[in-house]
Amino acid sequence: MIANYHTHTPRCHHAIGTEEEYVRCAIDAGLQILGFADHTPYPFPDGYVSSFRMSVAQLEDYTTTVNRMRKKYASQIQIHLGVEAEYYPKYFPQMLDLLWENRVQYMILGQHMIGNEMGEPYCGHPNGSTHVLEQYCNQSIDAMYTGLFTYFAHPDLIHFTGSKQVYQQQLRRVCRAANECGMPIELNLLGMQGNRHYPNRDFWEVAAEENCRVIMGMDAHQPQALLDTEVQQRGREFLKGYGLTPMETVTLRSIR
Ligand SMILES: [Zn+2]
Ligand SMILES: [Zn+2]
Repeated sequence: MIANYHTHTPRCHHAIGTEEEYVRCAIDAGLQILGFADHTPYPFPDGYVSSFRMSVAQLEDYTTTVNRMRKKYASQIQIHLGVEAEYYPKYFPQMLDLLWENRVQYMILGQHMIGNEMGEPYCGHPNGSTHVLEQYCNQSIDAMYTGLFTYFAHPDLIHFTGSKQVYQQQLRRVCRAANECGMPIELNLLGMQGNRHYPNRDFWEVAAEENCRVIMGMDAHQPQALLDTEVQQRGREFLKGYGLTPMETVTLRSIR
């Protein structure tokens, strides 16, 4: 791999390591491009606190730190400042303003919850509800059509326990929308490292049939994860089994 656009920091409460440690591991791993895409702050109302993302107040420190790393290591690696964001229609415009004011370069889509997060289940928990599956797909498709996201991270995060046929029918809509939007989808290597329910073979069967554009993402939550070239090789083999070849780099889309 020469580029990884999916890197977290401890601000999301479930990652460890300093930005500098991530950068050094990325250089050791031979990466030429490192994108930080920590879980975006979301300006929710009424004091609601989201447990898996940085607060609005932390955004400035995040951008300052990543920008400092970019300058310090400019001769060794290209560093980009991004976020991993859900599409929550109600608060999306305010969230974009916030990112724009702080000069965030790019967003990857990670639809961890549906609706506007509050009161909704985590999409990665097993769920047999066709309604939740449909809404996950609808919301992801709406997100892609904003044209503001660079790629779709772990599109197969939704953990549907119902029939394969219903699952594939719904996720095919997602794959087709991604193609219409010219958007790559991610093979998530964290899921592969952790033997999670994703990458989901039922999904990748469809992605292959639809000939989707694919990028691999480390989704690093600790610096050393970037050194795992074995999982990168497994990712390539996995995709090869479906006749897919990952892109090495993507073009970052501006968030406005
Ligand atoms: Zn994610
Ligand atoms: Zn992530």
